[in-house]
Amino acid sequence: MRIDLHTHSSVSDGTDTPSALVLAALAAGLDSIALTDHDTFDGVPEAKEAGRRAGLTVIAGVEMSAQLDGVSVHLLGYGMDRRNRPLLAELALLREGRVGRVKAMADRLTELGMPLTEAEIVAAAKASPSIGRPHVADAMVAKGYVADRDEAFRDWLADDKPGYVHRYSCELGRAIDLLHAAGGVAVIAHPWSRSTRSVLTAEVISDLVRDHQLDGIEVDHQDHDADTRSLLSDLAVRLGLVRTGSSDHHGTGKVGFPLGANLTRETALGQLRRLSAARGGQVEQV
Ligand code: AMP
Ligand code: MN
Ligand code: MN
Ligand code: MN
Repeated sequence: MRIDLHTHSSVSDGTDTPSALVLAALAAGLDSIALTDHDTFDGVPEAKEAGRRAGLTVIAGVEMSAQLDGVSVHLLGYGMDRRNRPLLAELALLREGRVGRVKAMADRLTELGMPLTEAEIVAAAKASPSIGRPHVADAMVAKGYVADRDEAFRDWLADDKPGYVHRYSCELGRAIDLLHAAGGVAVIAHPWSRSTRSVLTAEVISDLVRDHQLDGIEVDHQDHDADTRSLLSDLAVRLGLVRTGSSDHHGTGKVGFPLGANLTRETALGQLRRLSAARGGQVEQV
């Protein structure tokens, strides 16, 4: 079984429609993918329908925008009830925060000598309900300011660059609690990527297990080198956390993250399934 538990569609900042993503996953030899768009479930019905037709299992997921001490941390959820009201209310707040900063980013880039309007960024996001910096990058590319998303982030949009504008995100412990209350499991995405390693120390992760019953961490991810994966793997074993692996595929929107680049073991998926079921959720829900 080839299982990839973290992928994005054009419903957030990926470039493939949910249906195209499923076909690409099939072509990549995958048996199962989780669609984990940022702060929205909107792509799930189309992906599931495409999965049914193609004979590929699509797991409903989400990548929530969370924060710890003001540092952005991404939290993956699986198995949750997608109609759960408190969770949906929080996702709506997160998306509002995304919309709210678009004008500020347009103004900032204009000040930096790259005239851009809110409408141009909204147009670049097409119909995505989860507008983000990759769409700002696309608008910059359309204007000829940068060659691609990578250059836009490297020079302007990354957290420590001049075009960055803060947006609202959910406190990490609360995000875990919200997923749990909806019957889901909570897995920290790419915990030791460059920007998060300093806040998500082994001690902090241990506290999250004790205080919020964190379920797992994404160990095998393109942002983690071999040493990092080995350290995270040991940490997961010590804390009893489920270890996942995934591509974090964004279509052509992110270079070097091909579907199936990293996989999750069947036993790990089984653990997530049981943890979710114990909370009344279902990982392979319809
Ligand atoms: P936002 O959701 O607005 O906070 O933007 C963060 C998103 O930007 C992440 O989910 C990544 O998918 C994306 N991102 C970060 N760095 C890059 C990069 N170098 N190239 C393309 N996309 C990136
Ligand atoms: Mn993304
Ligand atoms: Mn992420
Ligand atoms: Mn992601």
